[in-house]
Amino acid sequence: MKVALIGNQNSGKTSLFNKLTGENQKVGNWPGVTIAKKTGKIKGTDFELIDLPGVYSLMPYTEEENISRNYLLQEKPDVIINVIDSTSLERNLYLTTQLMDLDMPIVLALNMTDLLDKKNIILDEMILSKKLGLDAVKVSARTGFGIDTLVEKLRKQKTQNNIKNIEKYPKIIENELNLLKIDKKSANNFTLLEQIMNDDENFLSSEKEVARVRNVVCKIFGEDIEGVIANLRYEFISHVCENCLDVKNRKKSISEKLDKIFLNRFLAIPIFILIMTLVYYLSVGVVGRFTTSFIEHLVDKFSLFAGGVIKKLGVSDWITSLICNGIIAGVGSVLTFLPELIVIFLAISLLETTGYMSRISFIFDRLFQKIGLSGRALVPFIVGTGCSVPAISMSRTIESESEKQMTIVLTPFVPCSAKLPIIALFVGYFFPNCSGLVTALLYFFAIGVIIISALIMKKFIFKNKATSFISELPEYRAPSIKYISKDCVDKTKDFVIRAGTIILFCSVIVWFLSSFGWNLRFSSSVNDSILAWIGDKISWFFYPIIGERNWAISVSAIQGLIAKEQVVSSMNVIAGIENLSQMSIFESEIFSGFSKASAISFIIFNLFSAPCVASIGAMKNELKSTKKLVMALLFQIVLAWSMSSLIFLILKNIL
Ligand code: GDP
Ligand code: MG
Repeated sequence: MKVALIGNQNSGKTSLFNKLTGENQKVGNWPGVTIAKKTGKIKGTDFELIDLPGVYSLMPYTEEENISRNYLLQEKPDVIINVIDSTSLERNLYLTTQLMDLDMPIVLALNMTDLLDKKNIILDEMILSKKLGLDAVKVSARTGFGIDTLVEKLRKQKTQNNIKNIEKYPKIIENELNLLKIDKKSANNFTLLEQIMNDDENFLSSEKEVARVRNVVCKIFGEDIEGVIANLRYEFISHVCENCLDVKNRKKSISEKLDKIFLNRFLAIPIFILIMTLVYYLSVGVVGRFTTSFIEHLVDKFSLFAGGVIKKLGVSDWITSLICNGIIAGVGSVLTFLPELIVIFLAISLLETTGYMSRISFIFDRLFQKIGLSGRALVPFIVGTGCSVPAISMSRTIESESEKQMTIVLTPFVPCSAKLPIIALFVGYFFPNCSGLVTALLYFFAIGVIIISALIMKKFIFKNKATSFISELPEYRAPSIKYISKDCVDKTKDFVIRAGTIILFCSVIVWFLSSFGWNLRFSSSVNDSILAWIGDKISWFFYPIIGERNWAISVSAIQGLIAKEQVVSSMNVIAGIENLSQMSIFESEIFSGFSKASAISFIIFNLFSAPCVASIGAMKNELKSTKKLVMALLFQIVLAWSMSSLIFLILKNIL
């Protein structure tokens, strides 16, 4: 017999899995993703148990939801154990109502019952069981309470299916839906409806049929069918909870108290600004100030040392130059900013595990709705602070086509981690006393540009209705050191690997092109190099942004297309070839033209112009049209160019 554990994240599935299986576990991955797949045998039985990824709903929005849903629909377990955090029953039951629609035997494992007393919650599982028509067992994966009863219930499930005919939704709606002649397979009307709205091929074969049904459905419910269904589910849940839950004397939970502050109408945004400013202040301001020059110094020392060793081997000058000025300078310049990035990685995953990240989504959802935008784009935007590539792919979950396209075009505007080296390099040098603040301001500027662009696009290009998407927030939790360290190590690894591959490769090319002239003779002056020739041809484009025609800045900026941190790396390689012993690249002759004003405008150009090739690939994938991709890139480049030119014009006279 196959038994599947499913429930919200942190409801205690894995803990329960461990209690049920003991030592008999197999750990692997779900095909194609890095989400862990755990299977095992329940102690004292021959039941096969599987721990499904934690989900809040069965809608295929996230990878986890997709895996769990497909498993239930395709593998058809004999019994589902729905693990529920009984201290937040209402939130957990949302998934339960969806599971009930699947028409499979379900046992509710009401977990964390050891905490009920502490939270002054009285839960009557008999009434709950009756109201839902499901077996419900109080358990605690921590103390082991109720585990045996749970296994007993599973044994009974072998022979009997306990889904009763519970009337969850108003009769009229059920009737209307029954009129639709669709191949229902295993789903009932509600799940079916949700699937239709998601174009799920699992349920409907022909596209024509989907379109037809969608039409009928919209006539009955209006466009926002998902919202209607979600509301019906919540009504049903609150009716159930009214009967089985006594929370009258419940003390306000800590989460509720914290949300009074963090989600306060007036305080929410200032607090968000404060927190993000603090993050950048710590990263670029405090840590950057100490580590950047230290690491630069180390890289220089290493370069000198390596140069010395190589010279002793008696190889030709160009090999020494390739290694010291090309590879070490190029890769080293990017790694210089690693400590700052690690601080940001740490801070972001800290905000994630404590639950504050969900609050940020919530705050912006509320804000976006006010100005007529949907909050669904927020997930890609938040993921985009790390890297645009997965963020852009996440826009796939947005149903409204116009909203999706808008998100794809705007996600690369979020300053990703590869853009931080550019910001840190310029801001660190030109604003040494307030680098953290300036970085934070640039971050908020990006948010502002995203909001304004979205408004403009909405007004002139896309006209769609705004829908809210966040209905429930997870509780605040103490940070999980394990999660934070793993997340941080993963992201750091990614960054270092990029430095060791793409950046290394490009540094060699930049070194080659700037060390050789067209005559292919080494160490002609850098101004006579092939790269200088190329840069000269495009330098007019950057004239309004930096106020000079400079081939070196132009070729470096263009390399942002390969990877954003490559801009920094390229500048460092070029500066190093021109002058070996300078203190900062801004003291080398070629980059000495930068001023505070042009530093800012140059950063802004890099923040908003077309993203790196990997992101462009992701954009192409999601937009599914070369024409749209070209339009999107043009929009980004034109916006970046005009905005940075304008800002240079303004700042030139102020700074
Ligand atoms: P999953 O995300 O559903 O797999 O949840 P986990 O099994 O990882 O548990 C999440 C957190 O809840 C962990 O810190 C567990 O120690 C804790 N936890 C799980 N079950 C119980 C329980 O019955 N009582 C209490 N107090 N904590 C629990
Ligand atoms: Mg788990």
